[in-house]
Amino acid sequence: MVKTEEILNSKSLSHLNKLISICKKCVLYKIKTCDVPGDGSSKAKVLFIGEAPGREEDFLGKPFVGRAGKFLDFLLKEVGIKRKDMFITNLVKHRPPKNRKPRLKEINACFPYLEKQIEIIKPNLIILLGEYPLKVFFKDKEISETHGKFLESGKALYLSLYHPAAAIYNQKLKNILIRDFKKIKNF
Ligand code: URA
Repeated sequence: MVKTEEILNSKSLSHLNKLISICKKCVLYKIKTCDVPGDGSSKAKVLFIGEAPGREEDFLGKPFVGRAGKFLDFLLKEVGIKRKDMFITNLVKHRPPKNRKPRLKEINACFPYLEKQIEIIKPNLIILLGEYPLKVFFKDKEISETHGKFLESGKALYLSLYHPAAAIYNQKLKNILIRDFKKIKNF
């Protein structure tokens, strides 16, 4: 059983990944194909947080490689940012069954991993993709009001954006997301 203390004492992403691979803190490990701890540079200045891995992510062990990932790649290209220079992760590191939303107790169980990833990487900007990550860091905020805005909490700076999956088939949200995404570049 992985203890929270062990996660918080971790000094490297590779050690965190090992803990994630044996983690049974919630039920999601039971149906996993792969762990999806996160991907990218350990020196990233910008860290993206999505919701949870989906089918393709579970299959390949990488975040945002399915349909939403392709759209994220398009957005990154639009603003001239290389994926390998960022760090991309999710609130939970294993796929919820049938691609359902992650439950609060799963998000809470997995939170120490995210907390530690942020502490190790020390990004200058944390991008919250969608309502779920927004609510984890800013309980009382609504995405309809915060999207495209920089938010501060403690020493960290956040940018709230609509989730790419929500925008794929909604032209209005898509245009908003493309516009909001450009704020990363300005930053
Ligand atoms: N893929 C991910 O890795 N995370 C999401 O939130 C959606 C798709």
